[in-house]
Amino acid sequence: MKIIAVGRNYADHIEELKNERPTEPVIFSKPETALLKGNEDFYLPDFSQDVHHEVELVVRISKIGKNIDEKFAHKYYQEVALGIDFTARDVQSKLKAKGLPWELAKAFDGSAPVSSFVPKEQFESLNQLEFDLSVNGEIRQSGNTSMMLYSIDYLIAFISQYFTLKVGDLIFTGTPKGVAAVQAGDELVARLAGQEMLRFFVK
Ligand code: MG
Repeated sequence: MKIIAVGRNYADHIEELKNERPTEPVIFSKPETALLKGNEDFYLPDFSQDVHHEVELVVRISKIGKNIDEKFAHKYYQEVALGIDFTARDVQSKLKAKGLPWELAKAFDGSAPVSSFVPKEQFESLNQLEFDLSVNGEIRQSGNTSMMLYSIDYLIAFISQYFTLKVGDLIFTGTPKGVAAVQAGDELVARLAGQEMLRFFVK
């Protein structure tokens, strides 16, 4: 399986990092070794002093597809989850300044904790889903999928022009504002539409 992630998909987060608003989705990927499941502890990597949390809605692909039409994209996923796109911001800033790829900052081991998945039918609309992230009991990020610049279906159509999407592939759909550094000992809790999805510690 592979993880495809979308950068700069929420206007408020683009603003907080002083990034340019994209004219098409910003895409990167993480390998399978980035995945953390079952509320496992996240270990801070030695190569960064500034690892940020980015809480994101995650979509799990349920059917193989290439060049998927946006109007049929909803047939290619049945379940959603919450995930954290951990980002070594200091490493990313250096790479960005040189115009280099982000993988070292984004795709390292354990950089993609993902909750268990719930059926999308559980929600009235995936385009109006509230989610939030608390650190040590304090809400740091709260967003609504209605604020996404590119919808899930648009993203699936766009991504599948470049990468065949296979069963079990995950799409991280971008983060709202409020990203900040985590410290050893922090407890992170992510909720989707009020339902607790993730609870784990940073070590
Ligand atoms: Mg992200």
